[in-house]
Amino acid sequence: MQVFKFGGASVKDAASIKNVASIIQQFNPQGKLVIVVSAMGKTTNALEAVVNAFHEQSDDVEALFQKVKEQHWGVAHELFGSADKLVYESLEDIFSGVQRWLNGTPNVDYNFLYDQVVSAGELLSTILVAAYLNKVGVNTEWIDVRQLLQTNNTYREGVINWEYSQNRIQKYIPPILEQQIIVTQGFLGGTIENFTTTLGREGSDYTAAVFSNMLNAEKMTVWKDVPGILSGDPRLVSDATLINQLSYYEAIEMTYYGAKVIHPKTIKPLQNKQIPLFVRSFKDPEAAGTKIHTQVQADMPSVVVFNKNQIQLSFFTKDFSFIVEENLSAIYSALAKHRIKTNLSQNGSISFRVCVDNVPYKIEPLINDLQEAFDIRQEEGLELVTVRHYTPEAIERFTKDREVLLTQKGRENVQLVVK
Ligand code: ADP
Ligand code: ASP
Ligand code: MG
Repeated sequence: MQVFKFGGASVKDAASIKNVASIIQQFNPQGKLVIVVSAMGKTTNALEAVVNAFHEQSDDVEALFQKVKEQHWGVAHELFGSADKLVYESLEDIFSGVQRWLNGTPNVDYNFLYDQVVSAGELLSTILVAAYLNKVGVNTEWIDVRQLLQTNNTYREGVINWEYSQNRIQKYIPPILEQQIIVTQGFLGGTIENFTTTLGREGSDYTAAVFSNMLNAEKMTVWKDVPGILSGDPRLVSDATLINQLSYYEAIEMTYYGAKVIHPKTIKPLQNKQIPLFVRSFKDPEAAGTKIHTQVQADMPSVVVFNKNQIQLSFFTKDFSFIVEENLSAIYSALAKHRIKTNLSQNGSISFRVCVDNVPYKIEPLINDLQEAFDIRQEEGLELVTVRHYTPEAIERFTKDREVLLTQKGRENVQLVVK
């Protein structure tokens, strides 16, 4: 069997969903297939705005939510006319579920509420995709992934209970695949109490990799709006070139350092079972794209990754004493507690510096926890540039006319914090 993943860009409107159906008809006429789908276009951001408005008790909640509904009704109308009552009722069920949360108190835990509301995006998109596939004659079953992938209660960053989820997936999915293809939601999980969780932004790639691993897929394909993995984000590097093949190691390095093309957690479940990952273009489905597998690729080009919106936090001891392991331990415990990943770190004699994504809802409580023990300096609005397989020319090119605050060089990677 194989797993396809379609991201937001590939299902952003009715024409795109029709294109998805034609890719499935073309590339998987009979085979066993699980399709993992993200929310349409920018729906997750739109639902995030609904949650924020509700949380702040702003008057915009209704209007923001209405926009999300209208967008989905519009696409349903284009795909099914007004004929398919079942589709409209299924969409309505999801909208009513969200409405119930919005009728309740805003004083519930923000992350919990976020997941209950934002998860609607994937539920809605998969209803439309599954119904459309059935309409064009592809026998498809819609599956609620929350019944299969159980997570802990870390809302917004659910951690999968691997053994339980694997048992469920291995029990329920193969018999269905004998008859039908499956459409399910990326990015979502469910707790033991039947609440919805999400797996972290952009997490649908990871969901597809989890299914691939648990079902021992022959291969996994993610269909993107780019020709494959390039030597840099084409939105930022106009002459980026396609990389035909990548080893798992190269891929995990690129995504770990922030290449936004695949979620960093995607590689491990695939590598562990030696399942190849194909990154292909839904705009040019015939093209081969990039293959990620075991084989080592010689002659890798310089690959650049830009991480915008970074904040540098410098922790100074208050009495001019050295930064020692106990200090580092306190700092790292607080980082772990607030689930903050350090993108770069550097020791000094009386200071310790980290560069992290500037996510205020995580940074503020971190600083509260540590400000008694340290003097903390913050510098916002920075960018972290990572060049893998760097050359002096590549470094020069990507830092030209910019102030470099900090440089770290290893054998394969150079990282530069720039203004
Ligand atoms: P999805 O629709 O599956 O969620 P994403 O938008 O998350 O897809 O990922 C595709 C985007 O990743 C591209 O539009 C591109 O701008 C960006 N990107 C960043 N780095 C790279 C890279 N090295 N190669 C290709 N695309 C990249
Ligand atoms: N829809 C989710 C997001 O935008 C998950 C995903 O697209 O992978 O983050
Ligand atoms: Mg994505």
